[in-house]
Amino acid sequence: MGGIHTNVWYVDDDVDIEKSYPQIVEAAEWLKKNEVVAFPTETVYGLGGNAFSKQAVAKIFEAKGRPADNPLIVHVASRPHVEKLVKEIPHEASKLMDAFWPGPLTIVLRGGEGVATNVTAGLDTVAIRMPDHPVALALIEAADLPLAAPSANLSGKPSPTTAQHVIHDLTGRVAGVVDGGATGVGLESTVVDCSSDTITILRPGGITKEQLEEVVGHVEIDPALTDDSHQPKSPGVKYKHYAPSAPVTLVDGTSSFLQSIVEKRKEEGIKVGVLATEETEALYKADVVIPCGSRSDLISVANRLYDVLRRFDEANVDEIYSEVFTEQGVGTAVMNRLSKAASGNVIKE
Ligand code: AMP
Ligand code: MG
Repeated sequence: MGGIHTNVWYVDDDVDIEKSYPQIVEAAEWLKKNEVVAFPTETVYGLGGNAFSKQAVAKIFEAKGRPADNPLIVHVASRPHVEKLVKEIPHEASKLMDAFWPGPLTIVLRGGEGVATNVTAGLDTVAIRMPDHPVALALIEAADLPLAAPSANLSGKPSPTTAQHVIHDLTGRVAGVVDGGATGVGLESTVVDCSSDTITILRPGGITKEQLEEVVGHVEIDPALTDDSHQPKSPGVKYKHYAPSAPVTLVDGTSSFLQSIVEKRKEEGIKVGVLATEETEALYKADVVIPCGSRSDLISVANRLYDVLRRFDEANVDEIYSEVFTEQGVGTAVMNRLSKAASGNVIKE
């Protein structure tokens, strides 16, 4: 698919960043030429382009097939980069940067006149984050540019947590992929709006509401996240995201209830996949049963989620039934992504 040659640069993510520097410099050269390059971050792989270049940013949207009204997060490596993007950093936003950067927190600020208009999809705010990954930071520094970067997957597909996922989706569509191994958190950043007096979570992610509140006091959650009748303030949230090819149904009940659904579908000749956990894996008899981390460690579930969703695609199942998780801590983000993968489809016992 696609027509352009896609370079792959291998780098050591934690061993010796100095040694892999020539590859990073080469990747940065493409970015300076306004080409797009995928790179690892601590959340998922990003597809980066010069945030000041309308032409570079257009290539990101084109490679992903991303709707133009879904704005991009700008990735920076330093505070001076942020100052190039917005006129003013409010006090609360500054406290959040001190506490969570580099890290999986995206901060929406007023301004953003500096970036290309297609980065912000015409909004008068801009979303900014400093990734906590040595390869991402080295690449941004080598290019010396803030990089607009959404997840490096085809739009609508689960976000990539390995370079192989990116290569699968984007070969022939991007100038290159910096392969720094598997990512850490495995879910996208938390998006928090600091453009007005109330601080509001627009998208749940690796940093929880509780963690944010420790730093800035009360934090709101965008009502659109739980109630469809509201218009989300984060345009991307309205899209069906993160979905494997087979339809996903969440099953809110016991393992034996889930298994009874599986049996009925199998009788009808349907190839069924079950998204289970280490604790429950042995309780299911389906065509494909994949454990997604451990119930006692929701971070491990977050970590594995997108890879597991992609593995159901590889196994060519017709339907996927998934366990649900408690909406606490990172469980909020896990359930947000799972509900989207399922387009809101839930069966309650
Ligand atoms: P992605 O890059 O695919 O992880 O998605 C980025 C998320 O950030 C989407 O949900 C966007 O809608 C959201 N976002 C980016 N810029 C802004 C902004 N200025 N205001 C609100 N949400 C934003
Ligand atoms: Mg994405």
